[in-house]
Amino acid sequence: RLDERTREIVKATVPVLAEHGEAITTHFYKRMLTERPELKNYFNMTHQKDGKQPRALANAVYAAASHIDDLSAIAPAAETIAEKHVSLNIRPEHYPIIGEYLLKAIKEVLGDAVDEEVIDAWELAYGEIADLFISIEDGKYKASAWTGYRLFTIHKKVKESEEITSFYLKPEDGGSLPSYRPGQYIGIKADIPDYPHTQRRQYSLSDAPGKDYLRISVKREGGTEEIPAGLVSTWLHDQVQEGDVVPISAPAGDFYLNESTSRPVVLLSGGVGLTPLMSMYKKTRDERDVYFIHAARNGGVHGLKEEMDGEQTYVVYETPSEEDKTLAAYDKAGYVDLDWLRNVVPKEADFYFCGPEGFMRAMNGALHEWGIPDEQVNYEFFGPKGTL
Ligand code: FAD
Repeated sequence: RLDERTREIVKATVPVLAEHGEAITTHFYKRMLTERPELKNYFNMTHQKDGKQPRALANAVYAAASHIDDLSAIAPAAETIAEKHVSLNIRPEHYPIIGEYLLKAIKEVLGDAVDEEVIDAWELAYGEIADLFISIEDGKYKASAWTGYRLFTIHKKVKESEEITSFYLKPEDGGSLPSYRPGQYIGIKADIPDYPHTQRRQYSLSDAPGKDYLRISVKREGGTEEIPAGLVSTWLHDQVQEGDVVPISAPAGDFYLNESTSRPVVLLSGGVGLTPLMSMYKKTRDERDVYFIHAARNGGVHGLKEEMDGEQTYVVYETPSEEDKTLAAYDKAGYVDLDWLRNVVPKEADFYFCGPEGFMRAMNGALHEWGIPDEQVNYEFFGPKGTL
């Protein structure tokens, strides 16, 4: 355990580091990935460009450091991060490398503003935080259905909408499949022809457990004139075919249906954020009072439509097409808002939501305004953990 002086120094300097948080972590990634290019096979290289990854790392490190007296205060956040690490096959030997470059970056960005004693204190604090993650992750690896990657064959590839395609995965070894909690995801290791680094991404399981396949449903991230198309989703859509084999990590994630309550369940999804909620819906629709509300731009991009076939399902299209209007394919045009929500779902419920950040922020705001207690509000980010 760290001595008191070390802890005092770390806590006192958290604000200094936090102020320069992103500058430090941006510098950290740049230098580390230049000097240790093999690590590019572990990091999402697109998130290096858009700044999300440095931001997420900075927030995690400063949150941990500010609770250095009692790291149990960061347990929920540590849980989410550790689940992601396990799905990415992050190992104890990776931690010292991160530590080394993080300390170098602190020194280089802050220069004279920090002395040796401060750097030494941060080195010790980093070691303590790293040990916490290593031990949480060790427990998870031991409990995991398999460790690292297992090869799966693309048994079936099914187009679900203009943008979403499902992949049905069966283990190449012919062995059995683990159960998982509806809401969890798998990791995929993508070696894309002509792309120099291995890329890893998570995809939520979009069907109920208990089948002889795992299903993921992937949105094509098409990009624009200014923004390049998404690497892995484009590869999956355009290049990966039925019969191909892909390495998959075991189901993981702490966003799943709480089966210890019998409260009604309200599922709120935006766009491809419907995948984990679809799994929850299919698992629990016959057991509990479930409401499923899905928001999409229009019917053309609404995937897995025919699987939302229960009575308490509601479709909200931002800008319904003429065809949507003719088919009366939706319950509301525009957005999901609190006035509407409180008329269609009960307040005494467990709420789960997932979707684009704007949608998530709106749902979070609406549920808070309605007075839903925090412990009944659950959500998943389809990217580095952000803030709502
Ligand atoms: P990336 O290459 O990672 O790019 C991401 C986005 O950034 C794209 O929209 C791309 O166009 C844009 N971009 C590229 N270059 C730049 C640049 N220079 N500047 C700015 N923007 C740029 N996705 C699903 O489709 N279905 C799921 O069920 C699903 N479940 C998930 C579950 C979890 C827990 C998480 C964390 C993510 C999930 N995702 C899911 C998202 C998925 O993991 C990928 O992030 C997604 O497929 C995009 O990956 P990509 O490699 O195609 O795009």
